[in-house]
Amino acid sequence: MVAYKQRCALCKNKWALVTSQRQKFVTCMDCEMKVVEQEVEDKEFKKLFQIPIEWYKENSFLRSIRYQYGRWGSLTEKQIEAFKKTVKEKKEKGKEKKKIKKK
Ligand SMILES: [Zn+2]
Repeated sequence: MVAYKQRCALCKNKWALVTSQRQKFVTCMDCEMKVVEQEVEDKEFKKLFQIPIEWYKENSFLRSIRYQYGRWGSLTEKQIEAFKKTVKEKKEKGKEKKKIKKK
């Protein structure tokens, strides 16, 4: 896996971390979060994206999917599935953490 820094293509100010060579259009977290925080009108997608805002900050995959929806107004079936899967995994991990705390 490659990881290097490149200037954000939107604000051309902040640095963004590039982890894939296929990634041509690089954006920083601040620019992506602006899109993430926008209101979603589509009911189905609104439900899909209803997760804690912290998750978008800590998980670049969730953020990039949400960002792409914000930019293009749609997602592919595969992207939706992957998003759901990641959210489900995060929820399950959260439960495990709670269990450990109780002990
Ligand atoms: Zn930026």
